[in-house]
Amino acid sequence: MSKVIFLADRRTDRPASLTPGELPPQGQPALDQRARPLRDLRISVTDRCNFRCTYCMPREVFDSSYTFMPHSALLSFEEISRLAGIFTQLGVEKIRLTGGEPLLRKHIENLVEMLAALRTPQGRPLDLTLTTNGSVLARKAAALKSAGLTRVTVSLDALDAAMFQGMSDSGFTPDDVLRGIDAAADAGLAPVKVNMVVRRGLNDGQILPMAERFRHSGHVLRFIEYMDVGNTNGWNLAEVVPSQEVLDRIGAVHPLVPVESGEMGRVAERWRYADGGGEIGVISSVTQAFCGGCTRARLSPEGKLFMCLFAHEGHDLRAPLRDGATDHEMARILAGIWSARNDNYSELRGRNMADPSRKIEMSYIGG
Ligand code: SAM
Ligand code: SF4
Ligand code: SF4
Repeated sequence: MSKVIFLADRRTDRPASLTPGELPPQGQPALDQRARPLRDLRISVTDRCNFRCTYCMPREVFDSSYTFMPHSALLSFEEISRLAGIFTQLGVEKIRLTGGEPLLRKHIENLVEMLAALRTPQGRPLDLTLTTNGSVLARKAAALKSAGLTRVTVSLDALDAAMFQGMSDSGFTPDDVLRGIDAAADAGLAPVKVNMVVRRGLNDGQILPMAERFRHSGHVLRFIEYMDVGNTNGWNLAEVVPSQEVLDRIGAVHPLVPVESGEMGRVAERWRYADGGGEIGVISSVTQAFCGGCTRARLSPEGKLFMCLFAHEGHDLRAPLRDGATDHEMARILAGIWSARNDNYSELRGRNMADPSRKIEMSYIGG
């Protein structure tokens, strides 16, 4: 029996049924099997990185004998922006560039410029952001801003230099990253979001120093629960520090007040300091699954489309692209993939029902 695909009707807020394979009427997003609209696209532009974070690219696996993708396998900027344009016709309003380390992809600002020129069917520019380890952001921030980047998220797991170097397994220092954060804010990419992955027994002692450092800074520090992404980081539930514990630890020193946000697809729960010291966020991917509001599709560097961070397999878009598919044909392929989507890994993990084998690596698909 064929399934009916539902599309949200923004004027009435009632779902409208469509026959399978049909494209959404102009201006309406495709919905998946759980009635989640397609809103966000995360584009990983490289599988390479100049860090070897132990929770993402452990050096034992990603060593000198590891084979990264050849440049010819990667989608070109033209291919990426063409696909992104088709995605906007299906509901995407927000694009995040990621990796690997996206700032290692040569002339990334040219891609930013191409994406910044795209418009939604309603004529609005996209929310265009990028996640970086910050190592080379100080010299790239101004060019990224003038190319049209809206905002930036910078990862920083510790202020303590030895701990930072241990976790990132790199020769960079927290000061290199802090200089990048300042440069981004100076360039107008504010507020800068700062992501800290917390691992119990490793950097949880940095929760308070990080909170103090970013209070009153105008930047928004976000604490991320350590996730079981990929197959190489030896994840262990005992190393996860629940977001509630992070909030308790900070709130005991600086009282916190929740910030309401009704936005679907938002992963971070927002809190503000009661004394006006600014805002923080917590991302509770392990203790409070948010699959029900997951509106994200993920594109890999060589053009595979993944429906979940924990997926086993992607859908090859590069082949039809390079075989000459028209925009209309590509749109039908994308709409078909999204409307068949039923992923909810984190909810299943919470019920001990997830299949943890053969997941894609975080450094390949991005966060
Ligand atoms: N290289 C860039 C960076 O580090 O910001 C972009 C890619 S990185 C894969 C994206 C985000 O995923 C980073 O904020 C990183 O800390 C986070 N991340 C990587 N592995 C993780 C894990 N096992 N659990 C939670 N977050 C993780
Ligand atoms: Fe590189 Fe980012 Fe992964 Fe660290 S988290 S290894 S910086 S891709
Ligand atoms: Fe989305 Fe998959 Fe994460 Fe659930 S587990 S929130 S479906 S990416």
